[in-house]
Amino acid sequence: MYVDVHAHLIHPSFAGEEDAAAARAADAGLDYVIVNGLEPRSNREVLALCERHPHLLPALGIYPVDAVASRIDPATWAHPFDPPAPFDADAEIDFIDSVADRLVAIGECGLDQYWVTDQAAEQERVLRRLCEVAMRHDLPVILHTRKAERRTLDILLEMGVEKADFHCFGGKLKLAQQVAEAGYYLSIPPVVVRADAFQRYAAHLPLDRLLTETDSPYMGPERDARNEPANVPVGVEAMARARGITTAAMAEAVRENFRRLFGR
Ligand SMILES: [Zn+2]
Repeated sequence: MYVDVHAHLIHPSFAGEEDAAAARAADAGLDYVIVNGLEPRSNREVLALCERHPHLLPALGIYPVDAVASRIDPATWAHPFDPPAPFDADAEIDFIDSVADRLVAIGECGLDQYWVTDQAAEQERVLRRLCEVAMRHDLPVILHTRKAERRTLDILLEMGVEKADFHCFGGKLKLAQQVAEAGYYLSIPPVVVRADAFQRYAAHLPLDRLLTETDSPYMGPERDARNEPANVPVGVEAMARARGITTAAMAEAVRENFRRLFGR
């Protein structure tokens, strides 16, 4: 009865444990886990993993930091992780288009003005191309919008995108309400157990626009511990508490929203 709309089971922290994490998700009561790709390597590994597990559903995309990898100068990269490896973003979009009939969504994709601040135009170009693929195949987009929440919403509205999930939304409640009013969904990760902003979304956004995710291995209920899809029920419990409804009612609402957006 639970669902995770955004997990990175293809990640070094799950190496060799992907199948075990998938089994634990099923044991925890998850009907489906959407596994998101970020760039060429993870996109292909997501497809292979999901082929082995009927409850894992693939979503392929280009993460907005990877989208501009070929334009980043490693010499000026000042973050505590390696700069993304360059690849041909347009060729990857063509690949995603070519396998779209096997996907449940396009993503992770979007805009990021936190890690990269000088490539907004190219990030937008890649996002628009991926939205075109999604619309052509009638698939939802799963969006990363860090420090670019308003801009992403404006692009979707301008393009006439109808199906979207804003994952780990970091904007103000008022903007989150505008996202919901536009008919888009917002997915809340298990960190909601200790994060006021996510509790506010769970309490105040329309119940028929809420989804659950994990963003595994990030955004878990315990600080610094690896997150995984099996943690969804802990997050749903915190969402229900914030809203003042039963855990079963929250889980049921989210499950229905998932069915409406992803068709299963
Ligand atoms: Zn993600």
